[in-house]
Amino acid sequence: MLRMMAVTAHPDDEAGGFGGSLRLYRDRGVETCVICLTPGQGASHRGGAHTDHELAALRRREFAASCKILKVGRAIVLDYPDGQLHRQDLYRVVCDLTLHLREFRPHIVLTFGPEGSVTGHTDHSMASVFASLAFHWAGRNNRYPDQLKDGITPHRAQKLYYSTTNFTLPDRGPITLSPATAIIEIGEYLETKIAAFKAHTTQAPLWSLVETHLRQRGRKEMFHLAATVNPGLIQQETDLFAGVTEGD
Ligand SMILES: [Zn+2]
Repeated sequence: MLRMMAVTAHPDDEAGGFGGSLRLYRDRGVETCVICLTPGQGASHRGGAHTDHELAALRRREFAASCKILKVGRAIVLDYPDGQLHRQDLYRVVCDLTLHLREFRPHIVLTFGPEGSVTGHTDHSMASVFASLAFHWAGRNNRYPDQLKDGITPHRAQKLYYSTTNFTLPDRGPITLSPATAIIEIGEYLETKIAAFKAHTTQAPLWSLVETHLRQRGRKEMFHLAATVNPGLIQQETDLFAGVTEGD
């Protein structure tokens, strides 16, 4: 069975940039996993939560509901602090992600680009950095060798993709995006990912804005191939699993 993992920063990230592809590939029989680094406890829209702890609990439930709509097989929220990923110990966060990679053993990994996606959020940038290092290090037996016991072995995923778009938001600082090398036609799953975003009820004040952006983006999701086990000249792709071999 083919497997894909998306690494995000906040509950709701899984819907916007990745939701169409997560659901499309699930319906094609791919096993899917989302690892979200924070429970989103620093959000401006708090849905009546009185404390960060309450908001985190609400958003964990919303994440689970969204992942259910997207039929994500393994949906995990870690406990890093929202808005503070750039202040975390890099070696430790990458250690966490490397273990998840070695356990789930995805063939492809999706995350944001280091620019932080169209919002340029520092947490998105850091998710990109952490996930990229975990992608590269999970396959090496001299990285986090203490994990290599109880059946855990190194795992080399075959491709790393950054989500990207062909537009930027006018009200944000300069954002320099990765060029799209893969365009995935998500068809009717545009509606599914909008529904997944709306499972995040604490974020209801953002719904109409996000829906407008997602509809402008249309029935496709764009990605940039950032690393591959088959290096060579770049090919324009329409399938994230192009050239991927099953096994392991
Ligand atoms: Zn986010």
